[in-house]
Amino acid sequence: MPHKPPPDADARRAIAPVICYPTDRLPQPDLALYRRARRRAQRTAEVEVPPRDGRCFTVPAGHFFRISAPDGPQVGDLNLWHLHDLSERFYSGKTRALHGTHLSTGDRMWSSFPALRPTATIIEDTLDWYGIDEHGGAVHDVIGTRCDPYTGNLLSGSQYHHCCHSNLTRALADHAGMALSQAEPHVHDVLNVFMCTGFTRDSGRYFMKASPVRPGDFIEFFAEIDLLGALSACPGGDCSAEHSSDAAACFPLLVEIFAPPPGALEGWQSPPVNGYDRSHGR
Ligand SMILES: [Zn+2]
Repeated sequence: MPHKPPPDADARRAIAPVICYPTDRLPQPDLALYRRARRRAQRTAEVEVPPRDGRCFTVPAGHFFRISAPDGPQVGDLNLWHLHDLSERFYSGKTRALHGTHLSTGDRMWSSFPALRPTATIIEDTLDWYGIDEHGGAVHDVIGTRCDPYTGNLLSGSQYHHCCHSNLTRALADHAGMALSQAEPHVHDVLNVFMCTGFTRDSGRYFMKASPVRPGDFIEFFAEIDLLGALSACPGGDCSAEHSSDAAACFPLLVEIFAPPPGALEGWQSPPVNGYDRSHGR
């Protein structure tokens, strides 16, 4: 039985919200500098991620990477690690708390404790026009975790092997020469590139809908530290209907790396790890 509202229920609900982390106090990226460097950058590598599969790529600090879906609407699940220390990895939850449920230009992908520093900064997003739609949906979320075979098994008893979690696990294992059991614990909650998601207004349930991404669209990042990335082309395709199966139409994703000319980032430094002294009151 639900409880009866107290007499002052409406007054309690009417209290105005307070933004938890005012981002105007965050160190701001110099987007103008990044963009000037990007305009003169040369493409140095590309990695194609096949449908329902994953691939790794590396990006030196100060270089750029672009993700696109050149052949058709496709969602990607992105993991990032410090190239030289896999224990420092993208922290989806803190990034969400700092920037909101969905990321776009100027937002940063923050790393786990104790480093808590920007790993990558979004410098361009051709889907920035989308905003928040009438259902509460928006693009590039940090609210979903990644599709995985365990939840599929929980819900339907399935044994499906090409969820993003498994694709990322295989990609890291192949890249790093690890056993699957060694690679799997490094896989973490993702940035859902191109995915359109939100929470229903009436019940707060997580929803997805067809991604608005089309050939020609891309999202581009500046690597703040030396990065190892892994990207999965989700078996959900554009995520208009279902994932964790082979039912959806799927397309490859393309990752391209660009190097700026020497001197183009004059004044920029790779960010240091967080300044907290880690004594935790002792
Ligand atoms: Zn997926």
